[in-house]
Amino acid sequence: MTLASQPPSPTILILGGGLMGLAIAHQLARRGSDVTVLSRRRSEAAGFVAAGMLAPHAEGLSGDHLRLGQLSLERIPGWVAQIEADSGLACGLRPCGIVVPFATAAERDVYPTAAWGVALDRAGLERELPGIGPGWQAGLLFRQDGQIDNRRQLMRALERACVELGVRFQEGVEVLELLREDDRLQGVRVRDAAATLQVLPASSAVLCSGAWSAQLLPELPVFPVKGQMLSLLGPREALQRVIFGPGTYLVPREDGLLVVGATSEREAGFTEGLTPFGQRQLQAGIEALLPEASQWPPMERWWGFRPCTPDEGPVLGCSSLEGLWLATGHHRNGVLLAAITAELLGACLQPEGCSPEQQALLDGFRWDRFNS
Ligand SMILES: Cc1cc2nc3c(=O)[nH]c(=O)nc-3n(C[C@H](O)[C@H](O)[C@H](O)COP(=O)(O)OP(=O)(O)OC[C@H]3O[C@@H](n4cnc5c(N)ncnc54)[C@H](O)[C@@H]3O)c2cc1C
Repeated sequence: MTLASQPPSPTILILGGGLMGLAIAHQLARRGSDVTVLSRRRSEAAGFVAAGMLAPHAEGLSGDHLRLGQLSLERIPGWVAQIEADSGLACGLRPCGIVVPFATAAERDVYPTAAWGVALDRAGLERELPGIGPGWQAGLLFRQDGQIDNRRQLMRALERACVELGVRFQEGVEVLELLREDDRLQGVRVRDAAATLQVLPASSAVLCSGAWSAQLLPELPVFPVKGQMLSLLGPREALQRVIFGPGTYLVPREDGLLVVGATSEREAGFTEGLTPFGQRQLQAGIEALLPEASQWPPMERWWGFRPCTPDEGPVLGCSSLEGLWLATGHHRNGVLLAAITAELLGACLQPEGCSPEQQALLDGFRWDRFNS
C-alpha cells in the first residue's frame, strides 16, 4: 500500500516547535483540531532567544509589513489573555513604550514611522530615559510599542496551554523530508531521538522550522541571521521604557533584568557560539545608550538565529505543495507577529478557510513573491 492509498490522517503536523509552531498549535487546538508538534530541539528556537520587543514602530517597518505588525500588536492583549487562561501562567506582557534615540532632530524627522511617535528633544529624552548617554539629542516615543518576556514566560505558557488543550509533542524528532505525490503532501520522514527512522502520514502540515526552513523546502528563500545577546541585573525600575538604539537595544524586565541585544550577523550562517567582537559591540552599545548600566553585573549571554528572507518579511499561507502551509521568515519581528500568524494559519487550516480580509493580508506575504 502506498502512502497515498492510506486513509488521510486527521492529525495536523506542526514541523518545528518554536514560537510559531507553539502559537499555531495552540490556535488550532483551541478550534478543536488534532495537532502533533514535531520538534528537533526546543532550546535552539529563536523564541527562547529573542528580546521580546513588540515594536512595529520602533523597528521602522513600512508598507504591508508595518500593517501586519500593527494588526498583530492590536491582537496581542487578547491573544495573551487566551494563553494565560489556557495555561494558568503569566506571559509577562509589558506595554511600556519604546524610545528610539537619534543624534539629531533631522534624523528623527525622517524615520519611517515618525508619524506614529511623539517627538522628543533632549529634555524629553532625559525625562523618559533618566541616565541616557550624552550623544543623543532627539527621540521618538512610541507609547503603543512594548515587550513580552518570551524567554522566561511566554514560551513556557504557550507550551503549557498546548498540553492542556491536548496537543501532542514529539521532542527530539527531526523532520528529514516532506513526502509528496502529485504535488500533494503525503507525510513526513522523521528521525527520532533514538535515531530510528519513521514515516508519519499526514495530509496537512505547517512548516514553521524557523531559520532552518529551507532545509526542508529549498525553494523557500529563508536564511539565518545570527544574533548575540546578554543580560545585566540593574536596580528595579531604573529604566521604565525600552531604548531602541542603532545596533543595540535595552529591554528592562519588571524585576530589574536588563536584556541587551543584539548583533545582526548575516555572514555567520549557523555558526554557533559567542564571539568577542559581538560581545564588544553590545558593550559599546550599552555605554552609548545608558552609561551607568556598564557597571551593572552581567547575568547571562546567549545567541540564536533569526529566520530572514530577502525583503525581511515573513512567508505565510499556502506553499507549492497542497496540504503544506507556511509560517516562517519572521526575522526580527517573530514575537510581535506571532499573534497574527497564529490567527491567519489557524484560519487557513479550518474547513471554511480564511476570510477575504485574511486572504488579502496573506497575499502580501506569499512564498513566491520574490520570484517576480
Ligand atoms: C537575537 C534575536 C533577538 C530577537 N528579538 C526579537 C524581538 O525583540 N522581537 C521580536 O518580535 N522578534 C525577535 N526576534 C525574532 C523571533 O525570535 C523569531 O522571528 C521567531 O522566534 C521565529 O519563530 P519560529 O518559530 O519561526 O522559529 P524558532 O523559534 O527558531 O523555532 C524553530 C524551531 O524549529 C525546529 N526545527 C528546525 N528544523 C527542524 C526539523 N527539520 N525538524 C523538526 N524541528 C525543526 C527548531 O529546533 C526550532 O525549535 C529575535 C530573534 C533573535 C535571534
